[in-house]
Amino acid sequence: KANRTFHPENTVINVDSQTIGGNKLAIIAGPCSVESREQIVGIAQDVKAAGAGFLRGGAFKPRSSPYSFQGLQAEGLELLKQAKQATGLPIVTEIMSISQLEQYHEDIDVIQIGARNMQNFDLLKAAGQITKPILLKRGLSATIEELLMSAEYIMAGGNENVILCERGIRTFETYTRNTLDLSAVLAIKRLSHLPVIVDPSHAAGLWWMVESLSKAAVAVGADGVIIEVHQDPSNAKCDGQQSIKPERFAALMNSLREIARID
Ligand code: PEP
Ligand code: MN
Repeated sequence: KANRTFHPENTVINVDSQTIGGNKLAIIAGPCSVESREQIVGIAQDVKAAGAGFLRGGAFKPRSSPYSFQGLQAEGLELLKQAKQATGLPIVTEIMSISQLEQYHEDIDVIQIGARNMQNFDLLKAAGQITKPILLKRGLSATIEELLMSAEYIMAGGNENVILCERGIRTFETYTRNTLDLSAVLAIKRLSHLPVIVDPSHAAGLWWMVESLSKAAVAVGADGVIIEVHQDPSNAKCDGQQSIKPERFAALMNSLREIARID
């Protein structure tokens, strides 16, 4: 179902008044995790003013250490809804378990399945039973074929609203958090009709690379980007080192406008 051979035209996913995969670039921005009402509503207003179409923010966080901040959880979801009320931006947030699916289907506009769950086949099958768009991130060490087969799990169940995300893969290189595989965008667009976006923040792990990698992603034909933005990155509860400030995000939007269409 994800294969372009049987579906030559690009899939365009509609979310509220926004699209992903159409002529217009999809821009998803926000903090790694929701930390407070003031934080999430403030960032939502800033990224909206700069031209973002979607708000991201983690409520349930998949952290490597059980002692790290796990997210505000249910309160985080509530605060995301308040940020949506304040700005109108549709919400993108990560799901961690099948038990959350019903609530996410109700409250969330784009449900993210993170890199660590890309091959959680039970979760993929369950995501196939709903109609909400699923943002499926490439696994830490997953091949392009494996990513496409994971999309197939969701689509086989009946949910064809799948967006793929290249977010960097593990290689021998340690300077960056992961290695951004921009050729994956080209390969996926050749093999599949599904929209493909790039996450330069988790790929590089370094805030100062985010602007250039975003431009490169758009230049190779990505349908959008997902970017971590925080007002005070050095005090962020999660991923501050790869988060850019709202001012820099606004400047990045201006650069992207020069190479792609954003309203
Ligand atoms: C995230 O988007 O916050 C995240 C945890 O991403 P990934 O699954 O790509 O590591
Ligand atoms: Mn993060």
